[in-house]
Amino acid sequence: MEIQGKSVFSGVAIGPLSIYAKADNVVKRVKIQDADSEIKRFEDAKEEAKKQLQELHDKALKEVGEANAEIFEVHQMMLDDGDYVDSITNIITSQLVNAEYAVATTGDNFSQMFAAMDDDYMRARSADIKDISNRVVSILQGAVNGGIASDVPVILLADDLAPSETVQLDKSLVLSFVTRGGSTNSHTAILARTMSIPSLIGAQYPEDINGHMGIVDGYKGILIVDPDEETLAFYKKKQEEDNEKKRLLQELKGKENITLDGKKINLYANIGGVGDVADVLQNDAGGIGLFRSEFLYLGCDDYPSEEQQFQAYKSVAETMAGKKVIIRTLDIGADKQVDYFHLAKEENPAMGYRAIRICLDRPDIFKTQLRALFRASYYGNIGIMYPMIISMDEVRQIKVIVAEVKAELDEQGIPYGEVEQGVMIETPAAVLISDELAKEVDFFSIGTNDLTQYTLACDRQNAAIEKIADPHHPAVLKAIQMTIENGHKGGAWVGICGELGADTTLTETFLRMGIDELSVSPSRILTVREAIRKVDLSK
Ligand code: PEP
Ligand code: MG
Repeated sequence: MEIQGKSVFSGVAIGPLSIYAKADNVVKRVKIQDADSEIKRFEDAKEEAKKQLQELHDKALKEVGEANAEIFEVHQMMLDDGDYVDSITNIITSQLVNAEYAVATTGDNFSQMFAAMDDDYMRARSADIKDISNRVVSILQGAVNGGIASDVPVILLADDLAPSETVQLDKSLVLSFVTRGGSTNSHTAILARTMSIPSLIGAQYPEDINGHMGIVDGYKGILIVDPDEETLAFYKKKQEEDNEKKRLLQELKGKENITLDGKKINLYANIGGVGDVADVLQNDAGGIGLFRSEFLYLGCDDYPSEEQQFQAYKSVAETMAGKKVIIRTLDIGADKQVDYFHLAKEENPAMGYRAIRICLDRPDIFKTQLRALFRASYYGNIGIMYPMIISMDEVRQIKVIVAEVKAELDEQGIPYGEVEQGVMIETPAAVLISDELAKEVDFFSIGTNDLTQYTLACDRQNAAIEKIADPHHPAVLKAIQMTIENGHKGGAWVGICGELGADTTLTETFLRMGIDELSVSPSRILTVREAIRKVDLSK
């Protein structure tokens, strides 16, 4: 069987097909006959949860340090707490109900009890109890490994994946994403490119292919189910050829991003978290042009503390060893929903309460992040940029808050470094006032994903209008040109960090427009470098 989709990253993936097990938040109360076997189900799920927490602990230890990893040890201990376990087994035996219900009920009861305590420390444990209970419930419901019901790498099938779901995934188990919905600029697609794995969107697969063998052809945009021997052999050979091409691209490592006539630009990488830095270095990026800091918030159950953020930013800055690291302040809302922000449901979330609008409204959250960023700037070459800007007033408000943060740090004797500050140009409003904005900032970074969405009035999440949401539309290209011209006139350098920056059919166009920097997925660095080195601007 062949299913047509649209490719978001080329290449070939071969492996078992696995349908994403969405976390089912509704826990049903089901009567059972055999309490002993239900208790055994709970005990097994508890052991699996402890195993997952140990793995999370080891990963966090490597990525964000001991202080942040400790929580996963605490969670493991809580799972073995006598009162907690007794309550669950008692509900199962006395009410003859399913383990999911007993765990969820105990989780609710205990977290309410902790929330009502006087002691701050104990009150804070309320969220932890909820968290460990949710983990055990989702294991009982079959959603192991963050939604992947498999221990071997799979081609993951889903309607679509929200950013809050992708952060939970065990990425080492994903060979490819195939989604029914989604769009080229959706975050699942961006993740696929960051991970350099062939992936499809808009592929209407049937439910009954779960567990079958599959091939994703990221060149033709097709998913092949149950391939015959001949097809399998053909694609294995294609995979080998791809690996050979990748090896050849490696020869561009260490070379400059320079055109044939000698124009050099900066080629940086986009990342979602500390874990992506290894890819940045491996692909020889000159810096990080977009660190989507909101993924740090998406990966937590509560607001990340200043210290937690500081450790993450510092670690990236230190690892990049003096190379530029541009961190974008919190860009949530729209498709990136974080439960603990309790954002109201909106009719038009893309045009709603998001990004800088939330930060300026909630200076407590914004200041915590800015303090962490400025503190981390002492340990490397950090730049900060602000998303979704539409007015000069926003820039003025940001400046006041930044000045307050710096004054506080000065007063406390906390050191910070020189920080370049810029705005993202992702709305037509920002393009039209880019002449004024340029005088106020050090740089512009053009977010072509949102700029395309807002210029063409095409929701980037809507697969139905994918065909007309064309980032090559002359209006988008003119907006980019105008931004570059106004940026340069006002003394700001200009880069592109949206997905269009990696489109090598436009590399020459961007260079002719005078772009100073391109920031692309780590996996695209060497391909874009190759394209730059073929351009001759003198012709
Ligand atoms: C963009 O809009 O182009 C961008 C880089 O930001 P994000 O994709 O995270 O919205
Ligand atoms: Mg954006």
